[in-house]
Amino acid sequence: MHCPFCGAAETKVIDSRLVAEGSQVRRRRECLSCIERFTSYETAELLMPRLVKRDGTREPFNEDKLRAGMSRALEKRPVGVEQLEEALSRIIHRLRAMGEREVSSRILGEEVMRELKQLDEVAYIRFASVYRHFKDLNEFREEIDRLETEDRE
Ligand SMILES: [Zn+2]
Repeated sequence: MHCPFCGAAETKVIDSRLVAEGSQVRRRRECLSCIERFTSYETAELLMPRLVKRDGTREPFNEDKLRAGMSRALEKRPVGVEQLEEALSRIIHRLRAMGEREVSSRILGEEVMRELKQLDEVAYIRFASVYRHFKDLNEFREEIDRLETEDRE
């Protein structure tokens, strides 16, 4: 890290401690050229992977867009904002935990469906029918049958 006073490249760490409940490292540094001291904070960067769409194009992960999509599926359903937010953070957590720079948007879609299925079946069907582009009623019915079978297990 360059010295903010003289711009020299060489600085030494004279003290290092965990702050912000362990999520940050605070370092006291001293410049080897001008002997000025300064403090730096280091935080782990938690990046969201970029989404690779079906057509191969990439787009940044967008939490608002995801929230809007899930809210649309949950419209007029008995699911509270808090439950939606919890589901959102689980999805985000799992995406981050993959540790990938890029993730197929299909994986995100599957994660959303997994959460919606737990929250509300109608919302799940709504989302799945748009997402999976059910071709006809039969396909749609098959999905509902599948759901019901899974519930019994
Ligand atoms: Zn300096």
